[in-house]
Amino acid sequence: MHHKSLAELASALKAREFSSEELTQHYLKRIERLNEDLNSFITVSTEEALKQAKAADAILQSGEGSSITGIPLAHKDIFCTTGVKTSCGSKMLDNFTAPYNATVVSRLKTAGAVMLGKTNMDEFAMGSSNETSFYGSVKNPWAHDRVPGGSSGGSAAAVAARLTPAATGTDTGGSIRQPAALCGITGLKPTYGRVSRYGMIAFASSLDQGGPMARTAQDAALLLNIMAGFDERDSTSVAQDVPDYTLSLEESIEGVRIGLPKEYFDENLNPGIAIPIEAAIKEFERLGAQIREISLPNTKLAVPTYYVVAPAECSSNLSRYDGTRFGYRCDNPKDLLDLYCRSRGEGFGPEVKRRILIGTYVLSAGYYDAYYLKAQKLRRLISDDFKQALTEVDVIMGPTSPTPAFRLGEKSDDPVAMYLADIYTINVNLAGLPALSIPAGFAQGLPVGLQIIGNYFSESRLLNLAHRYQQVTDWHDRIPAGY
Ligand code: GLN
Repeated sequence: MHHKSLAELASALKAREFSSEELTQHYLKRIERLNEDLNSFITVSTEEALKQAKAADAILQSGEGSSITGIPLAHKDIFCTTGVKTSCGSKMLDNFTAPYNATVVSRLKTAGAVMLGKTNMDEFAMGSSNETSFYGSVKNPWAHDRVPGGSSGGSAAAVAARLTPAATGTDTGGSIRQPAALCGITGLKPTYGRVSRYGMIAFASSLDQGGPMARTAQDAALLLNIMAGFDERDSTSVAQDVPDYTLSLEESIEGVRIGLPKEYFDENLNPGIAIPIEAAIKEFERLGAQIREISLPNTKLAVPTYYVVAPAECSSNLSRYDGTRFGYRCDNPKDLLDLYCRSRGEGFGPEVKRRILIGTYVLSAGYYDAYYLKAQKLRRLISDDFKQALTEVDVIMGPTSPTPAFRLGEKSDDPVAMYLADIYTINVNLAGLPALSIPAGFAQGLPVGLQIIGNYFSESRLLNLAHRYQQVTDWHDRIPAGY
């Protein structure tokens, strides 16, 4: 069963080839057998899952149901779920069960999806390797001594290892696309505002966006159909109709103009990555696309800009964790100040503290103009680069990550080296654009992801291009040994 895509599982469920309960049991058994080593789940919600599967079966039995009724899914542990712990990968929220569901969770639940559990992630989504998680690192299913990427590393590893047909993720600077690339799956970061952030624990609110992580573009389209849409509880959610993303998958890509930014293909690009990426672009050319070189001149400013903007927003968002209302509280505080200091000091890990310190610094009275305001200006320049480029071409392609999965521990003592892992993904969040990563080959036996970036609300086009590519390649069907 676990070799089937989500679309295939949905039709098998509709045809009653097996029940949702059987399917859910199958995945729960795989999780039980394989997850201990992989560590891709923080919580497995067995009881809830079986209850939801039974309810889905009753709906399917009556011939009703949506396109995903009875399909098991996993949620990144950043999405609030009633009745099941939401830790955000942090000791701070190790004791936290939300009183409400995130909009993404409730939409998928209403559509009949079954929640298998909550996936591991970097603490508060800060990281590119899943090593900052309070619950320990996740292994990459392709090589157990390698990272799965981050911060949605648990979701990516679980989908790649077939412990769930698909999962949700969030992307503030690459956290859907980079782990998707490193684990050989398909991950889509939608346009900012397309998917509600309500109940998605905030890291950097002007950048955060939830999206689907699945094996194929078709599966991602099925999920996005349900996840996307206006939500009055998220003030940055966009009131724009959601098309049926599955309807445009088959469209011809004849004449689509693909831009290759020269800044993405310079000497910094690992040759192991360049070879499969160039081969993938040739494949798009064979499918009728036109390739041309473009320039995104401010690319090199993206990482420094992001590492001012994101920490600034995080320092503000994370001020709510102070030991007084919910989350971790230190033992026997002497007074209020001691309660704040020790609850935060003991509850947050080192990367989160580093970001809070940087954020507080760049927002402080004496440095605001020099850092935060400057970064806002650079953010505009980066957006304008894309705006200009997207008048010349329809989409932009390049690698998702500059290297394949690196070794566990390889960059964990060097924050700047870690930050550079997101060099091709961060600029897209700064501009608020949609982008996806699809499996496009291997380098030293490790998956390589191709990134496709489009204009605002062009998710249909991105999924269409990805689907057409997946019809003529089989990288997305490869399974890591042992799974
Ligand atoms: N790796 C980036 C960071 O550490 C992006 C994380 C994300 O997208 N959530 O901030």
